[in-house]
Amino acid sequence: MSSSEPTNIVVRTGRAGRYADWRITPELLPSWRRQALCAGVDTAMFFPADDERLPQQHRRERVAKAICAACPVRRPCAVYALVHRELHGVWGGLSEADRRRRLTHP
Ligand code: SF4
Repeated sequence: MSSSEPTNIVVRTGRAGRYADWRITPELLPSWRRQALCAGVDTAMFFPADDERLPQQHRRERVAKAICAACPVRRPCAVYALVHRELHGVWGGLSEADRRRRLTHP
């Protein structure tokens, strides 16, 4: 999954049912994002589908977290998501619920 070549990254923002995908070129990214292991991976693995049920969510999050576990920028990614209060998706190995727990019980 890792590549030495710069890769465009698609970042999905928005709320359930109203997503927008933003393609970000490497020059625009903070340096840690250039090393993201998820670059080039289908973002559907990291963000919930509108009709996702709990068992699907748990499966999807397990896969995403496994990718994050091997990612060299896991920590800055998790910190970024916590600081920016990212509402959706797995960031730095933390699911939405994981981040909520950390923000309410630091
Ligand atoms: S920690 Fe996970 S979400 Fe963050 S850049 Fe790495 S693979 Fe992507």
